[in-house]
Amino acid sequence: MATIMETVRRPQVRQTQCFIGGKWTSSASGKTFETVNPATEEVICEVAEGDKEDVDAAVDAARDAFEAGPWAKMDARDRGILMNKLADLIAEEADELAALETLDNGKPISDARAADIPLVIDCLRYYAGWADKIEGRTIPVRGEYFTYTRREPVGVVGQIIPWNFPALMVAWKWGPALAAGCTIVMKPAEQTPLTCLRMARLAQKAGIPDGVINVIPGYGPTAGDAVVRHPGIDKVAFTGELATAKIIQRNAAETMKRLTFELGGKSPNVIFADADLDSAIEGAHFGLYFNQGQCCCAGSRLFVEERVHDEVIDRLREKNAERRVGDPFDPETQQGPQVDEAQFDKVLQYCEYGKQDGAKMISGGKRVGNRGFFVEPTLFTGVTDTMRIAREEIFGPVLSVLKFKNVDEIIRRSNDTNFGLAAAVWTRDIAKAHRYAAAVRAGTVWINCYDVFDAGAPFGGFKQSGLGRELGEAGLANYTELKTVTVSMS
Ligand code: ADP
Repeated sequence: MATIMETVRRPQVRQTQCFIGGKWTSSASGKTFETVNPATEEVICEVAEGDKEDVDAAVDAARDAFEAGPWAKMDARDRGILMNKLADLIAEEADELAALETLDNGKPISDARAADIPLVIDCLRYYAGWADKIEGRTIPVRGEYFTYTRREPVGVVGQIIPWNFPALMVAWKWGPALAAGCTIVMKPAEQTPLTCLRMARLAQKAGIPDGVINVIPGYGPTAGDAVVRHPGIDKVAFTGELATAKIIQRNAAETMKRLTFELGGKSPNVIFADADLDSAIEGAHFGLYFNQGQCCCAGSRLFVEERVHDEVIDRLREKNAERRVGDPFDPETQQGPQVDEAQFDKVLQYCEYGKQDGAKMISGGKRVGNRGFFVEPTLFTGVTDTMRIAREEIFGPVLSVLKFKNVDEIIRRSNDTNFGLAAAVWTRDIAKAHRYAAAVRAGTVWINCYDVFDAGAPFGGFKQSGLGRELGEAGLANYTELKTVTVSMS
């Protein structure tokens, strides 16, 4: 038993280099960077630090694979078969991959096993099914012409992903790109490159031709920026912070790249007094604290109708007191560390802002232990709409609770933000629920549930929470160009 636990605790790190054209290589500069275990602050390993030269080589490989390689000639259905094979190989290594995710990111092993890796597999299988179902239309135009459309792959795509769901973000990005027939240059987050590199190896094992998937680990302003500016990349798909997205949008303008963005949020989660309070409280707690609060769609503004406010607070406080924060490899652990020191400092800084701005800290606000980036689950009441903890994305286990009285008010206040990623509403009154769902300016609305994701359901932001959608058919469309063909029939 001890040995099994030890193997799971120390998953083997096998891939640490750039993956270009099917070959593992050091970075052109020879530089490496450290990836750190956030639970212990120990260095896990050194990883190749890619930069412009490596991105150039990766784009050459991807371009070649797109235009000349077997990928370009392959039947669409066979692409789907290879994607399913990749999903199978991931399923075979699920425990090892989950452990690698926990090691690099700090998320509880129970979450990595129950959520991250199964969702990766499901997403790849979902998009594998699309590969041979990307169809054009025939269009009844005026005159003696036959007009039809083709949906063609957008080309070489640059994909830049964050550290909060490292493997899942790979699946969200690779799934539609591969189904559409694109080739890929991916830059994983510098905090969490390991599962992405392992998945690249599995893609090769599955038989996805060399050059279709290329991975360049490295930093954003160097490797990421080289992806954004490269004239040989047709589209960039980015998930991360709004501030970074604005830089990318500017830098990508020169080459007129197609862009999709999945960014942050300050998502309202609204509990009406007529809700099933047991599930509403459970959902509010999960909707914020899941993944150490490091979710772009975290329900970080919890609006509670006045009549049930105090009861909700009491029960949230109890739940926080019971929450098991600690060693992410312990199967009983519910909350691991924040991903790195910068995030840890930022979260604690927001706890200070909350106090300074006059909110009442009901629980949390402090570091847990003295090693690793652990933060107590933190709860603020008496929060008003203008406080920093109600307006800015914290990306940590800090829940702000605000009171409200009626539907019109809560619609207005929910929308009083530049973000628009997600929203949720808890009520037994279906008219009220749907009225709220229609009025809130957000890309996803959950009614009497939270964080329910499916590979088939589009996800993305209104306003400054994003551009375009991921998942579902909408996510696939962003990896295609639409071509119109007109034939003279006379
Ligand atoms: P987070 O705060 O979640 O790390 P970021 O937006 O900083 O969010 O990072 C998300 C991804 O974007 C990471 O892979 C990071 O390396 C990359 N990135 C950061 N800055 C840039 C940039 N200027 N150009 C391209 N990619 C970047």
